[in-house]
Amino acid sequence: MTHRFHEAGQRTAVFAGSFNPFTVGHLSILKRGLEIFDKVIVMIGHNASKKDDSENAEKRVEELNRLLAPFGERTEVRICSGLVAPEAKALGAVALLRGVRSVADFEYERNMADINRDISGIETVILTAEPRYGAISSSIVRELRSYGYDVTSFLPSSPLSTDN
Ligand code: ADP
Repeated sequence: MTHRFHEAGQRTAVFAGSFNPFTVGHLSILKRGLEIFDKVIVMIGHNASKKDDSENAEKRVEELNRLLAPFGERTEVRICSGLVAPEAKALGAVALLRGVRSVADFEYERNMADINRDISGIETVILTAEPRYGAISSSIVRELRSYGYDVTSFLPSSPLSTDN
């Protein structure tokens, strides 16, 4: 029996987030997502509940495009102009990709997944964080950086090596 994966052609997921900044934890989810999906669109969104998320979105697109260049056509970076789920659907995505580090993350992600399924019929694939990245968040990186701490170990090295 032919697997649905092959019959349906290219399967795309949307990995949406604030990515302010894009951390090694995000990169891990993206790479693991590429093991499951043919293509992952990184969608830089605006999270209304988080401060300074809308700033520098264009700059982040440029940086991410450079960083993700080694993945070629398998990744794409976009800015989300509205709601993620309908936009993902319109782009032909079969799922949203998300990561969870903790039970607190899980509660939030489950609610989002339920709402996104309700409003757009789109499923969410949630990957558990690799333990070594479980404590890394964009907000902690921003905080450390604001005190002049060197945060390079939390950020993907550029140029990126595509093997782990
Ligand atoms: P949002 O503002 O939508 O929560 P984030 O940029 O903070 O966006 O995170 C995007 C996604 O990546 C979320 O699903 C989040 O749980 C996940 N994520 C963030 N940091 C990590 C990490 N260190 N390991 C795994 N997943 C992570």
